Amino acid sequence: MNNHLPAACDACAAKPCRSGDLSTAPKNCPSLGVSPEESLARYSQEDRRTACIAAEVECDGYCRLTRVEEIMEYTRRCGYRKLGLAFCAGLSKEAGILARILRGNGFEVVSACCKNGSVSKDQLGIPKEKQLKRGEAFEAMCNPAGQAAVLNEAGCELDLLLGLCVGHDTLFIKNAEAPITVVAVKDRVTGHNPLAPIYTFDSYGKRLLPYRFVGE
Ligand code: SF4
Repeated sequence: MNNHLPAACDACAAKPCRSGDLSTAPKNCPSLGVSPEESLARYSQEDRRTACIAAEVECDGYCRLTRVEEIMEYTRRCGYRKLGLAFCAGLSKEAGILARILRGNGFEVVSACCKNGSVSKDQLGIPKEKQLKRGEAFEAMCNPAGQAAVLNEAGCELDLLLGLCVGHDTLFIKNAEAPITVVAVKDRVTGHNPLAPIYTFDSYGKRLLPYRFVGE
């Protein structure tokens, strides 16, 4: 790899790394100068097992299983039984249905809502003008560290994220002890489909470039 140029796989249309022949790879290809053995050395034995299970689920369910089904397949093949579900209060109905599906298929579910702890945004130091319910005396902060603590203390073997906000998901991931996978991410505008503006980039998605930051 050319260390003077940052990797830019996004600009590499041909992606020769998929074929195993890197003779046409660009100079800043991160595959150059790294042997397959060196790449694999980055994985612990447990990581290799995880990578194999993930690849097998991908193969067995390719374009056939939904993400919820893939998560159940992955969980069962990993030998996990106790699942943590960290969800957004705004997706309470979805969390209830998901937990019902998981429990109905033999998994134990421990769940924690983002508003757990019932701590006010005032107490966190968020000014009223930056709160959603400005006129009300109390607005609960999202508490992803609390969600992680609940799931950590319960000894969950795998945590599922459902609809956490940008940044709150970061804090959950930082504080969680179990491995994590994502069921869905939060995108209030697109029905939780953040790729919608990417798919429509040539039409409605144009406003992203240049994007006018609302915080300025
Ligand atoms: S060939 Fe190299 S630069 Fe191209 S996508 Fe693969 S890793 Fe990235």
